[in-house]
Parts: sequence; structure tokens; C-alpha cells
Amino acid sequence: MKDPTPPAHETAQSRRTFVRNMTLGAAFLGSGAAGSLAAEVDEATKGGERRPGVVLMGLGLYARGELGPGLTKTKVCRFAGVITGSHDKGVAWSRQYGFPEKNIWSYDTMHEIAGNPDVDIVYAATPNGLHAEHAVMAAQAGKHVIVEKPMANTAAECDAMIAACRKANVKLSVGYRLQFDPYHIELDRLARDKDFGALDKLSGEHSWAFRERAWRIEKKLSGGGSLMDVGIYVIQAACRAAMAQPVAVTARELPKTNPELFNEVEEAIEWTMEFPDGATCRASSSYARNSNFFMAEGAKGWIRLDPAYAYRGINVTTSRGPLSYPEIPQQSLQMDNFASCILTGRESPVGGRMGRDHMVVIDAVYKSAAEGGRRVELPGA
Ligand code: NAD
Repeated sequence: MKDPTPPAHETAQSRRTFVRNMTLGAAFLGSGAAGSLAAEVDEATKGGERRPGVVLMGLGLYARGELGPGLTKTKVCRFAGVITGSHDKGVAWSRQYGFPEKNIWSYDTMHEIAGNPDVDIVYAATPNGLHAEHAVMAAQAGKHVIVEKPMANTAAECDAMIAACRKANVKLSVGYRLQFDPYHIELDRLARDKDFGALDKLSGEHSWAFRERAWRIEKKLSGGGSLMDVGIYVIQAACRAAMAQPVAVTARELPKTNPELFNEVEEAIEWTMEFPDGATCRASSSYARNSNFFMAEGAKGWIRLDPAYAYRGINVTTSRGPLSYPEIPQQSLQMDNFASCILTGRESPVGGRMGRDHMVVIDAVYKSAAEGGRRVELPGA
């Protein structure tokens, strides 16, 4: 997909003013985000309520690199234990993070968390195709659930997860860390306040050169290829910029550079999303290259995030100058937000509904690609 060139129609004066305003805005947002988190923490922990205990399920790369370390920086959560296929790994984690060894479960014994008062939340960072089974298990054990993105393999699986959580009266959330990132929050604000006019010309790509013979290339465990894994971030950003769910999609799978490896899932795909107010987003994802950006344009200006979906180092320019916010621990804010939702009885802002909405888009993108690029209307459009 061709990367659009930003239009250059701002004067130097307005650019300087905007940079100053954005910098002030950044400082305000930085302290505002911190302030609102502090208020949330106070609210969540008032009355000396104990911090909700999180059990991490699936100690793979993401858990190891981000969620475990992220838990140590949370203010509302407690690292309660792990569910892992390797007891030795669990013991190493218990020593590193200080939870008791009795709180190590295997995939065969995980149902035993039911009734364990140490555990409030199960966080499944397992392959996509197992999220539904793991969420239902956790709900049936009476525990609140976070599942990683994508929420499941299909929208139908999301329905089953939502129903199981509702029946068990537990909360459900998806690991959408970018919802708590200040740059993406600023994108929300620009969409809402229309500083640049309605953001109606959207584009984005999330691709990484992935070449491993692992669960990501097995359809049953992954649900699909690069779209499920990383393309979903473009869907999330576009829905935020358009403040809506798409009404229709058109998609085309791109030729495989490694058909032997990607014989069950797509390697690369491009798709267009149409939104109710006329906004469109040209999007793509691939396992054959590295690219990571999102761009939103309105009649009066544009914003470009590049990289857009990173854990750290998101870089943002606008038609009126760059943005610079303090680095924040996305995963810690995400987990703290969920824990405070539990303590205060609110629904997660990144709940099952949002996860399902994105899966509905993904289902439609695959449908369109399978039907030769036919325009597929989304349910409810
Ligand atoms: P990974 O392969 O590194 O880890 C997967 C874990 O699941 C491993 O510990 C593995 O042992 C376990 N597992 C349990 N049952 C399994 C089975 N039947 N087959 C294979 N593994 C099994 O993967 P990852 O990169 O950590 O991704 C895990 C989940 O987290 C995925 O859903 C992925 O999309 C998501 N993820 C999210 C982000 C984010 O930024 N939010 C980043 C990376 C990954």
C-alpha cells in the first residue's frame, strides 16, 4: 500500500502556535492522565479494599516481555500467580515476581482457581484460537477475564465469551493497551473536537517480517494471518478516528512471498473500510515486511503516527507540528484500569463489545477477500 504524503498547507506562524498549544496540551494531558489515574486508584482502593489478584496465563513472549514487567508497575493490581505448561517456568516466575508457588497452575489444573481467594482476574496471553476456551473457563471459575487481542478467532466465539461472562457475573476485557496511550487519546480528542475537521481520510498499515513455524501460521490457533495478529491495530485506530464501526469493507489478499510457510493463513492483505459519515480507511497488514503507521486527515489538517502501534516510542507529527508526551507504561495502565473497573463496578472501556466489533470487521474482511473483493456490508449497516 502506498504511504500517503501529508499535505503541507499550514503557515509557519500557525505551526509555531500549534506546537506551543500542543506542547501545553501534552503537559496537560500528561498530568491529566496521571491525575485521573491517581483519582481512579484512590477511588478503587478506598476503604482499604485489597488489590485484585491477576493470574497470567501463557508465559510466552508478550507475557515475558511486557505483561510480567507491566504488572510490577501497576498501582491497583497484585501479581497473584500463573497458568503455564511448564511448572519449572512457573517456579522461576514465582521467585522473580514474589507470588506463592502454590499459585502455579497448569492447563490441566487451571479450573482449580475456582474458589481460590487470591485470584480475581485471569489474563490469557495464549494463542488467539484458545482465548474463547480460556475465557469461558475463567468465567466458569468465577474470575474476571482479560484476553489478549484479537479477542477470539471469530465474532461467534466472542458471543460465547460475552455470554459466559454475563452468566457468571464477571467482567471481560481485551488487551487493547493503546486505548490508554496518550497519543491515541489525542487522536480520540481530535476526532471528537474536529480541530482538523472531520477525520475522513484514513490510512494505516501494521506489518512485521514474521517467518517462524509457530502457532501464528496455524489457522486453528491463530484464526488467520497478519490481519488477526497486527492488522487489527489499524482497525482499532480507524474506528477511533471515525468514532464509528465500519458499514462496509472491501478486501484483497496479496500474493504470498512464502507460500510454503503461509499455507493455512494469509501472509499479507489490504482492505478498505467505509464508515457511516463517509470516512474511508485504506489499510494493510503483512508478515513480509516491516511497517507501522496510521494517518488521519480532515479538511483542515492531518495527524500521522509513525510508528503508531508500538509499546514505546510512538512518534507523532501533525500538519501543525510534532506532539511529544511523556512515556507511559501502556500495559500497566490497561491492567490498572480493569482492576479499578472491578472495584468500582464499571464496565471496561475495552470490553467484550469492542473486541467483538473488531472481529465482525475481520470476519467481513476475510469474507470479501474470499469472494474476490466483493464489497461486504457489515451486520447492522
Ligand atoms: P507466544 O507464542 O510467545 O506465547 C504463547 C503462549 O501460549 C506460550 O507460553 C505457550 O506455551 C502458550 N500456549 C498454551 N497453549 C498453547 C498451544 N496449544 N499452542 C501454542 N502455545 C500455547 O505468543 P505471544 O506473542 O506471547 O502472543 C500471545 C497472545 O498475545 C496472542 O493472542 C497475541 O496476539 C497477543 N499479543 C498481544 C500483544 C499486544 O501488544 N497486546 C503483543 C504480542 C502478542
